Parts: sequence; C-alpha cells; structure tokens
Amino acid sequence: MDFKNSEKLYKKGLKHLVGAVNSPVRAFASVGGNPLFIKKAKGTVITDVDGNDYIDYVLSYGPMILGHRHKKVEKAIKKALKNGYTFGASTKNEIKLAKIVCDAFPGMDKVRFVNSGTEAVLSALRLARAYTGNDKIIKFAGCYHGHSDALLVAAGSGLVTLSLPGSKGVPEGAVKNTLIANYNDLESVKAHFEKHDDIAGVIIEPIAGNMGVVLPQGNFLKELKAYLETKNALLIVDEVMTGFRSKFGGAQELLGVEADITCLGKVIGGGFPVGAYGARNEIMEMVSPLGAMYQAGTLSGNPIAMAAGIATLTELKKQNPYQKFDEIAARLEQMLREKANKHGVDIVVNRYGSMINPFFKRGVVTNFEEAQESDTKKFAVFFWELVKNGIFLPPSQFEAWFLSSALSEKDLEQTENAIDKAMEAVAKQ
Ligand SMILES: *Cc1c(COP(=O)(O)O)cnc(C)c1O
Repeated sequence: MDFKNSEKLYKKGLKHLVGAVNSPVRAFASVGGNPLFIKKAKGTVITDVDGNDYIDYVLSYGPMILGHRHKKVEKAIKKALKNGYTFGASTKNEIKLAKIVCDAFPGMDKVRFVNSGTEAVLSALRLARAYTGNDKIIKFAGCYHGHSDALLVAAGSGLVTLSLPGSKGVPEGAVKNTLIANYNDLESVKAHFEKHDDIAGVIIEPIAGNMGVVLPQGNFLKELKAYLETKNALLIVDEVMTGFRSKFGGAQELLGVEADITCLGKVIGGGFPVGAYGARNEIMEMVSPLGAMYQAGTLSGNPIAMAAGIATLTELKKQNPYQKFDEIAARLEQMLREKANKHGVDIVVNRYGSMINPFFKRGVVTNFEEAQESDTKKFAVFFWELVKNGIFLPPSQFEAWFLSSALSEKDLEQTENAIDKAMEAVAKQ
C-alpha cells in the first residue's frame, strides 16, 4: 500500500490551507505521518487518492450512519437539487424534518435548525441563560461541545476546577461563567451549586464520545436530572453525536432521561451541514421571532440538507438497526479483547450502541483523567497497522469509532484480521 498521491496533496495543501486541513483532527497530529486524502466512498468502503480501499469506521465522525451514498438518500438529494439550492424563505421539508425530530424526542415540542453542532450548542446555552436568567453553565471535563468560546475550557485533570481557557484567543471573560465538573461524579456538580446561585444549567454528552467512549455509570444521568430539578437549573443534553445513533430517540431514549434542551447534529443532516436545538414549548418560545432570544442563519434549514436529513432518518427508522449495532459492537469488543490477549497487550474496551473504542491501558475508563492514562504511542502503532490492512479509523486515541448499518460479515472478518496484525505490531513495538 502506498500513499504517494496523499503525500503530494498534503504538501500542496500546506500552502493555502492551515495544516492542509479544515478541521484539526484530520491532520493526524497524534498518530504522526501523512494525512490521507479521500477520493470517494460507497457503502462501508472509503477510497483514498492512491486508490487504497478501507472499511470506514470514521463515517465523517458519525453522520454516515447508513453507510456512504445510500440509494434513497442520494435520490432525495438529486430531486431536491432540481428545485434550487437555497431561498431565504421557509420550505415544506423543514416542517417535515421538524416533525420527525420532535416525534423522536418526547422533550422537544419545537426545534430550530442551524448549520452545525457547534452552532446548536452555543444557541442552546444562550437559550438556557435567557430562560433561567442565570449566566453560569456547568460542563464536564473531557466532554466536547463544539468550538464556541464559552465551551473551549481546558479540561485537563489538573485544571478541572480552574476554568482556564483551552485555546489561545478565548478571553477569560468568555469562560468565567463556565464551571467544570467530573464525568460520573454528581458530588462535583453539587459542589458548584453550593458555591453559586446563578447556574442556568448543566451540559453533558449523555454517552461521552470525545474523550473516547465513556459511559455514564449507573443512573448518573437520571440522578443529575433529578438534582437539577431541585435547583431549577436545566439539563442540556448534547446529542450531536448520539442523536439517532444510540437509539432513534438518542441516548435519552436509551437511558430513560428527558433533557430540558436537546442539541443535535451529525446524523440529522445525512452528510450535509445541519444542527438543531429543541425543547418544550415554554422554553422554545423564548427564541426569536416568538421571544427575545436572538438567533438566525442565512442557510439554516437549507433545502438540500433537509432532504438528506429526512431521507436518512426515514430509512434509519425503517431499518431500526440498533439491535444489529449492539451485536456488531459486541463482536468488535470480543475481537479487540481476544487479539490483545493473544499478543499480551493491555486494553480497555468501552462501547455503547454503535460507538466503541479501545484504550491502551489497564483498569477502567470512566472519566477524562482515566482516559488520559492511555498509551498514545501504542495507539499510533495500532492505527497505522490498521490503515495498512484496510481499516479507516479516527486518528486519535480519544475518538469513538462509529458503525454504519451497511457493515457486512465480510467487513467484520477483514476487520478481525487487521486487528490481529495491529495488536501483534503493538506488542512488538
Ligand atoms: C461533533 C460534536 C459537536 C460539534 O459539532 P460540529 O458539527 O463539529 O460543530 C458538538 N458536540 C458533540 C457531542 C459532538 O460530538
């Protein structure tokens, strides 16, 4: 397998693109080497510019849940294209997608479509503040909620209580209202409420996927929600990754919790830029034009994106692949454990629904601190050996692998062989 064309494009890309990418995880910074340039994808297979085929467990970081270029989605997009691309006025399909979304999430009477997960979350925070009249928000270390100022707070273990900005260019004023708690630790949430009486709400990834997969332990979410009710603070559930992925009704359906405000993205656009936030009427009526919280977007509810979203969600509901996802993830877990065992490599495997990943360490991973104990050098070896054996996975120890409903028995067999070789390479390292 060679990567000559990717290498050429990377060098060329460096001139006018920052790091030759438009999103930093694509840069392969933590695994080293040259990022792959992709030419095309179909079903479970993604093909790079050198003609190498890979089984795709990145799926554009989640959206392509049916696999690439599903027939029905492609047909809907082509049909929509013929009517024009964007109008700056409402269309029938926005109402249709809104109904599909609100029917799936019982806590949502109304929804507002935006263009990305980042936008959904930053609008949800504004809404929580508008509704409660309070400014402070609690987030959990290791959870990612997009790149808006208020949520780019350093999440390293030593900084957990300090709320330091995690990026240059974020003014301290922008994060002074962001408080950090520990995932799976209700006491760390309560401690903030004991000190502050102006907390609007808590934002959480209900199943964390941005520090690797980390599961809520026991009834953590239910207990968090019950506690927040006693404090008149809102539970903002960031389902940008888990919405329509954990279950059709997201992690909320899987875990039996109802958010006050829900954020969506990724799957909802079927591969096009769509995000959404929604809540019960009383809360959503704060949003302009009904209420005094302003939020707008030139391309929001874009007709092509709505068509892709409707077709994806309609097909997803019909396929109902959630049982299949669980079975495939169970097999992947078994493969990872078996091959790691065979070659004497320490790993922890976390999975929930169609999100799974191995951490190269012993013990357990229930929060950011434990995730960070992983051996990222071992991961880098593992990553490249999988790539060379035809498996495309996120180039970071701290990203979830995603499953699509198109995965076949043959794909899984190829994956198993590749994992065997990759664990062997890790052991030899
Ligand atoms: C991907 C993601 C976001 C950001 O969405 P973008 O579309 O990349 O802006 C926010 N929250 C979670 C949980 C995500 O996984």
